[in-house]
Order: sequence, then structure tokens, then C-alpha cells
Amino acid sequence: MRIGNGYDVHRLTVGRPLIIGGVRIPHRLGLLGHSDADVLVHAVIDSLLGAAGLRDIGTHFPDTDPKYKDADSLRLLSETAKMISDAGFHVVNVDSVIVAEEPKLAPYIEQMVSNLAGALQTDRKNISVKAKTEEKMGFTGSCEGMKSYAVCLIESTK
Ligand code: MG
Repeated sequence: MRIGNGYDVHRLTVGRPLIIGGVRIPHRLGLLGHSDADVLVHAVIDSLLGAAGLRDIGTHFPDTDPKYKDADSLRLLSETAKMISDAGFHVVNVDSVIVAEEPKLAPYIEQMVSNLAGALQTDRKNISVKAKTEEKMGFTGSCEGMKSYAVCLIESTK
């Protein structure tokens, strides 16, 4: 068994879609980034790569590569799952937190869980997504950005 943790942050801006956990959420602001800026999926990817000793998301999916412009991060998560599998591991579980002051994310959590489980080809019960506000403090509290944390456990298949 190996554990991994991941963290990601993106700035909020007008004129960008808000995509979290592969769900397009109606909102006045969206996350800024080279890819679709899916802050949750990026944290999950980094947790998995870390657990497997495969460096980090920037190593595999560099934001200087035009190939990843506006990339669907769920697709990057699927590619990560393949790397984990090729390295001789399977995903035991993922637990994650999105920190966002608004909008309310509760209505979208189940779809996020389904999307993550689908990309990782694991059961929904192995995926946890939680959302919290930061009580109006700091850059998340002022809606300047959003952040996400993820922890995962992977197990050797060999
Ligand atoms: Mg990111």
C-alpha cells in the first residue's frame, strides 16, 4: 500500500467556464488555467502520481504544451490511471476536498464522484468528494480563487 497527497489552486476570473470534477457549473466566474483548470481533478492526479512515485502533473502534462490547451482534465486523469496501472498499482480509494466560497457545490458532488470513478475505472464507493467554504477568509474566501486537496491510497497488483 502507498499513500499520496495532492494540492491544486486556480485563480477565478470572468469569461471562463467553471469546471470542477468534470462538471460544468453555472457561475459568474470560472477557473483560469492552460487546461480546463479543473482544480479538483488536478489535485487527484497529483495525489496518484505522488503515491506511485511518478513525480507530478506538470512533468506529465506541462502547461507549456499546446496539446493541453483547454484540455479535458478527466482525460488526463484517465491517462494517469493508465500510468498507475502500468506501474503495477490499482487505486484503493481517493478522498478529496474542494475549498470554494461560492457557488454551493452540493448539487454537483454526486456527478463529480461518478466522473472521477469513471476516469479511474473504480467503484463510486472508492471516491469521496467534499466541499467546504473558507468562512470568507483568504483568497478562497474572497472568491479570488479555489483550491483542492486530495489523498489517495494505491495498492500493488504484483
Ligand atoms: Mg491545476
